[in-house]
Amino acid sequence: MPSEFDIIRRYFTRPVKRALLGVGDDCALIAPEANALLAVSTDMLVEGRHFLAGADAAKLGHKALAVNLSDLAAMGAAPRYATLALALPEADESWLAQFAQGFFRLADAFGVDLIGGDTTRGPRNISITVMGAVPPELVLRRDGAKVGDEVWLSGCAGDAALALAHLNARVLLADAALAHCLARLHTPTPCIALGLALRGIATSAIDVSDGLVADVGHIAERSGVAIELHYAALPRSRALKACTDERLARQCLLAGGDDYELAFTASPGSRGRVESVARDLGLALTRVGVVGAGEPGRVAVRAADGETMQLESKGFDHFG
Ligand code: ADP
Ligand code: MG
Repeated sequence: MPSEFDIIRRYFTRPVKRALLGVGDDCALIAPEANALLAVSTDMLVEGRHFLAGADAAKLGHKALAVNLSDLAAMGAAPRYATLALALPEADESWLAQFAQGFFRLADAFGVDLIGGDTTRGPRNISITVMGAVPPELVLRRDGAKVGDEVWLSGCAGDAALALAHLNARVLLADAALAHCLARLHTPTPCIALGLALRGIATSAIDVSDGLVADVGHIAERSGVAIELHYAALPRSRALKACTDERLARQCLLAGGDDYELAFTASPGSRGRVESVARDLGLALTRVGVVGAGEPGRVAVRAADGETMQLESKGFDHFG
């Protein structure tokens, strides 16, 4: 059985590229960058809550870091460092090797140094803190949406939730659709390049992790504005279009969560700039709504006939 220190040395100690001192001392050492704020965020994945017992370790390593990087993307921050606090029921070396492989593959892709963490025995729990750099005047926050702005969404929402619905036997997806949706659920790609490209263009941004309506609602609350989403304008993947259970499709689209796309606002005058970002990055960016002067914090979803849709649920609540 490897000791705690064997685990740290074997699986989580790698040369650092940017930090002054990485894993191995009481603290890591990083130098503040000129003209940059450090954006810091923590996300925890708990077995039985965010993933099932027996989940693929490499995909968990990927996802645990990806959901954290997604928060940096939503602030327009460039990824720099991560710490990893890990509780494991046993020192399973094959699990550790795969987890580390999934983690470092994504870390390397985004130039992230793993600079520290903590390792202990306990119910399986993965808590990661990420740090990223962003010039003070270019930070994308939730509270900057202005009345008259347009609301945009990257990619498509709902596919991860559709995969989950399949796993819970609420729907039966065809092979290609299932493969697509499972990849969206287990190995999401954080929209880092998009967050960076939206600096100076978006007036507010958030990553869609708990459901589109709920997360857009956070922009509305923090900005003190109302937001109207146009149901027919929401982009749908081929998998979601093929779902004949209209009620399920609507739930996935509006309240599914785990999408890790970016929702953001920009003035109508910036439309051309948003469209060139989409072209440059080869991404779909879709106008899905508008910011209005209604009741602050309110999100209304407008159906094609102009009626306001009644929602069964806005999104995922971890205490729900
Ligand atoms: P301390 O007792 O001072 O908390 P630890 O023995 O817990 O130190 O950790 C030793 C070193 O290994 C520290 O640099 C710590 O940041 C790092 N570390 C521990 N666990 C992990 C992990 N899962 N991933 C990365 N670094 C880790
Ligand atoms: Mg410790």
